[in-house]
Amino acid sequence: MRSERIEIVQGDITQMAVDAIVNAANSTLLGGGGVDGAIHRAAGPELLEECRGLGGCPTGQARITQGYRLAACHVIHTVGPVWRGGGRGEEQLLADCYRNCLRLAEQNGVKTIAFPSISTGAYRFPIERACRIALREVRAFLAASKVVEKAYFICFSAADLLAYQNAAAEGA
Ligand code: ADP
Repeated sequence: MRSERIEIVQGDITQMAVDAIVNAANSTLLGGGGVDGAIHRAAGPELLEECRGLGGCPTGQARITQGYRLAACHVIHTVGPVWRGGGRGEEQLLADCYRNCLRLAEQNGVKTIAFPSISTGAYRFPIERACRIALREVRAFLAASKVVEKAYFICFSAADLLAYQNAAAEGA
């Protein structure tokens, strides 16, 4: 059953036609590199305008906006932890990101959601640890949710795809 509600794919999250895509933003919510830059470029300047009004977002929390020129209706912006060796609550904060995104999705009637690999780019969270946390949190939330029906993990690289597939196969 669970495999139908979670799909791991390689691709570009800006192209996903889902109710909401998740942005791995920084705490200013004013745009950055990586997936954040790609989402802002694809959504257009209206996204930055709306983000300006949000006043930032603390690490582990999430905020929702419209999707503007994206195929997705909404963008859920979350701020992942910067990896500093693992002793500063990074794993808990990453779990908070996934949970808070899903709570916000549920509150906004989002049925389909796509996640990038939060924190594993510029923020250097080790992918093998991060994808296990991602899979665990999303699986647990979907099992209890009557609103969110399906989650996609969008892996940008083949190496990330393999890490997610291995973690999923191990039941992580
Ligand atoms: P963070 O600062 O949270 O680490 P990054 O954007 O640097 O965020 O990286 C997060 C992940 O998003 C990385 O795995 C990166 O390869 C990936 N990524 C970058 N662009 C895209 C995209 N267009 N679609 C999906 N994932 C992307």
